[in-house]
Amino acid sequence: MDERVLRLAVPNKGRLRDSTARLLREAGLIFEQTERALSVRVRNVALDLLFVRTEDVVELVADETADLGITGLDVTYEADRSLEVLLPLGYGRCELTLAAPADHDYEKPEDFAGLTIATSHPTLTKAFFADRGIEVTVVQLRGSVEVAPKLGVADAIVDLVSTGSTLMVNGLKPVMPILSSEAILLANKPAMELRAKEISRVATALNSVVAGRSKRYLLLNAPKSFLDSIIAIIPGLESPTVIPLAEEGVVAVHSVVSADDVWGLLPDLKEAGGRDILVLPIGQLVP
Ligand code: AMP
Repeated sequence: MDERVLRLAVPNKGRLRDSTARLLREAGLIFEQTERALSVRVRNVALDLLFVRTEDVVELVADETADLGITGLDVTYEADRSLEVLLPLGYGRCELTLAAPADHDYEKPEDFAGLTIATSHPTLTKAFFADRGIEVTVVQLRGSVEVAPKLGVADAIVDLVSTGSTLMVNGLKPVMPILSSEAILLANKPAMELRAKEISRVATALNSVVAGRSKRYLLLNAPKSFLDSIIAIIPGLESPTVIPLAEEGVVAVHSVVSADDVWGLLPDLKEAGGRDILVLPIGQLVP
């Protein structure tokens, strides 16, 4: 039996670094993050964090140096290793997108037959076209993919897009998305078998933060006679908690609501007789 501490590989630079460190801290882990240290022992939990490049996370988990990793779904699929994606983490969202010069009228994958496509995701790009029986030449670039058509290196590109502004600046337009990506928690299969319980505890803690972020804790006071109409408005997790107040005939209503609903909910609750309405963030939520 392997007695070493569970190891989680996480990005030490790039777009996913800060959001990942924030997630781990909000989940309750206490650790120092220095530029130099590759491996850091978490102070309050039996867990080692390995700080490595975003792409290297997949390799370290695949070769079992780490049991778990946090990286992009795109990077994970691109590496094409036999790994388990355990949990979407809700940040680092982007789309791997087929894009072409805006002054051409490419509209569908078939329009790219015989063309050259530049990408830093050659495995996913080749699979996308091969699945459709379309022959293309794929050129792998490590960065600045979006300038490839301008340089004459390729006719079109497959690249990660979040706002689309980089495409526009380079005279490109999106043709179609190939993959929706976000940061994920992944594990290797031997670790899933040998350390199932420990891994499940990490997943529960991380998921509690992700789940909490999309919810708000809603509190309000209202005359008891308005209770039914107020409860009818609140799309809560389960039935709201109703607590009598010291003031006769007045109750407090507590509920967990979707963060997306808060904007529309507040004026409706006020109109229905709610007052002293409070909306609080939820640090962690385990349904
Ligand atoms: P890094 O190379 O370390 O900055 O991380 C790149 C990863 O961040 C990608 O593989 C994606 O998973 C994620 N990401 C999120 N949004 C974008 C974006 N607009 N462009 C590139 N990568 C993004």
